Amino acid sequence: MHGDLHGLQTPLGARSSRNQAARLLIPGRPLRWMVTQVIKLTGQNPAYRLTHRHTSIRKAPSQVSSLLMKRSLNKIHWPDALQLGPVTVLTGEERGKYPHGNSVLVRGTHQSVLIDPSLTIANRGAPAPVDQVFLSHVHEDHIPGMSQLQGIPVHCHEEDAIGLTSIDGLMSMYGLPPTLEEEFRQEVIDDFHYEPQVDVSTFSGNAIFDLGGVEIQVIHTPGHTRGHCAFLIPQARTVFLGDIELSGFGPYYFDAHSSLESFEQSMSRCRSLDADYFVTFHHKWVISGREKFLQMLDDFANVISNREEAMLEFMTEPRTIGDCVSKRFVYRPSVDMNLVQHVETRSALIHVNRMLEQGRITKVSENTYQAA
Ligand SMILES: [Zn+2]
Repeated sequence: MHGDLHGLQTPLGARSSRNQAARLLIPGRPLRWMVTQVIKLTGQNPAYRLTHRHTSIRKAPSQVSSLLMKRSLNKIHWPDALQLGPVTVLTGEERGKYPHGNSVLVRGTHQSVLIDPSLTIANRGAPAPVDQVFLSHVHEDHIPGMSQLQGIPVHCHEEDAIGLTSIDGLMSMYGLPPTLEEEFRQEVIDDFHYEPQVDVSTFSGNAIFDLGGVEIQVIHTPGHTRGHCAFLIPQARTVFLGDIELSGFGPYYFDAHSSLESFEQSMSRCRSLDADYFVTFHHKWVISGREKFLQMLDDFANVISNREEAMLEFMTEPRTIGDCVSKRFVYRPSVDMNLVQHVETRSALIHVNRMLEQGRITKVSENTYQAA
């Protein structure tokens, strides 16, 4: 479907509200999509809290050499682009709110790399020549711009490559129940322009790429997916965080290839990143200043511990997994989507198993648990 405008001729935001309402009731509509639709219908975000307002950045980092500045100042025509020396943040529609995202262009003297080609890139095309595409991880919303970059080699961590080579491989990463998977699979193909990639290269954690006076350092940050990576561009004092998105919703670790423990370790690792600018694919866009970033990272990580404490409190009475699912520790009660049941179940199992291992709860009967 390369070059095909199917799904693009009507902008996603322009669908009729009747259509949107219908979509809300369709089994298999993925959570984040649903959230977007709920926002469009109600003007309120059911899953995210506003935790931070960004203050704009005016100055480029001082460490960037004049040569790189010269190159980076080659005009890029892109609405709301933010220049950070050799890094250009290609701000996505609605500041990268799902299904869109904020892509990043990194330009050295020899090579230009586009990181996470978003749906906005799919809609508008890339604003400058691109030699390579890097992916923070393989999820539907991080790859749709590949439809505008045919023949450009794509690199991702070896643990996520399965999602690039076939739609079945990508679906295996989500681990959705069949009832939800069928429609989501079609949506990934139709709305996110999925096509298997032929020119895929993989990197391992800690790889460093020299683009000519500008480096991209790979930092393996698994948890959201097994191969999720952040990218540090030292010459721009900038880190691209991918889906360590620092939203009030907190970390998303509910896919088949997700890991709560890995996510926690990755967030710890991010604390030591030496940078001044922190770019998220969704929601927060660009955070200026390491102190502010560390505070937001703490708040983001605390969503997990707060969830677990709330579950423990709930379990002062004997509770089943079903009780936890009904109580909801991930979504607000007002969120009405088919994916809720799946995610709440996965979350309940993950946290119950962990609290059992830690001796914080005990199994009191076949299917019932209670705080120890
Ligand atoms: Zn993701």
